[in-house]
Amino acid sequence: MSNTLSSAPMSIPCPSCGREIKKTVGYFKLHSDVGCTSCGARIALDNSEFRRNVNRADRELSKLNREVDKFNREMRRLARKFR
Ligand SMILES: [Zn+2]
Repeated sequence: MSNTLSSAPMSIPCPSCGREIKKTVGYFKLHSDVGCTSCGARIALDNSEFRRNVNRADRELSKLNREVDKFNREMRRLARKFR
């Protein structure tokens, strides 16, 4: 399981030409603007709420990862009996 959402692919439509701008969740979280690869327009990103929500989801995701590991370890412990 991936530890964060930051490497997940994400795209937005360019407000100037309508073509998709493909980046990652991490890019849109960290940058205040993005350049369109099709028409070259600079697009300002109002991402403060997005950043907060991604950070919160990342924290939940690491919590979930820890639970998955814990459960996995417990199951391995039980399975050891059969070896
Ligand atoms: Zn464009």
